[in-house]
Amino acid sequence: MSTEDHWTSELGKCPCGAGTVSEDVVSPDNMYGKTTRKVAINCTKCSQEWELAGRTLTLKSSKENLNTLVKQLSAIEREIARIKDEVIAGYFTRNGIGTMKAEYEDMQRLGFFAGSLQTYRNRRGTVSSPPVYQFLSMDVDGDWLMNQASVTTAKTLLEGQHEKRAEIKKDIEKSKSNIVRKSLSDM
Ligand SMILES: [Zn+2]
Repeated sequence: MSTEDHWTSELGKCPCGAGTVSEDVVSPDNMYGKTTRKVAINCTKCSQEWELAGRTLTLKSSKENLNTLVKQLSAIEREIARIKDEVIAGYFTRNGIGTMKAEYEDMQRLGFFAGSLQTYRNRRGTVSSPPVYQFLSMDVDGDWLMNQASVTTAKTLLEGQHEKRAEIKKDIEKSKSNIVRKSLSDM
């Protein structure tokens, strides 16, 4: 006796036309179970070249450029985070703010951190350079940080990275429009 129903239906031809795209449906016989659906490309060539999500086929090679750009963008974001932390560390050093408690009090005074000293300690950890700015208030990211950055060469570095980031974001938008997709309902 079967406890579930199982059937396969053809959703359409694969992009090259030699094979099919199908959907496997497994439905339990009781009313509490969940029906599962799994789509598949039944063509060696197309299953290598295309990826299938829901009813949409995406040409893998058309996404490669976007994937590269997204990786480049996250490398830039990491570099920006690193420079910002350096700027904040530099501020602490220049102003003789030597202990975590003193840091906390100063960040509170500036309105960049609203939590308790314990929370500050926990987030800050014992490492000297975790991404400090990321748990401070977003306001730290504006004029204050740029003013501090202008004391050293960090401002030029940050501006350079911001420019690069803006370029990559534009490229990402362009690259998105170059992705080749096919909807099964159009085929
Ligand atoms: Zn095919």
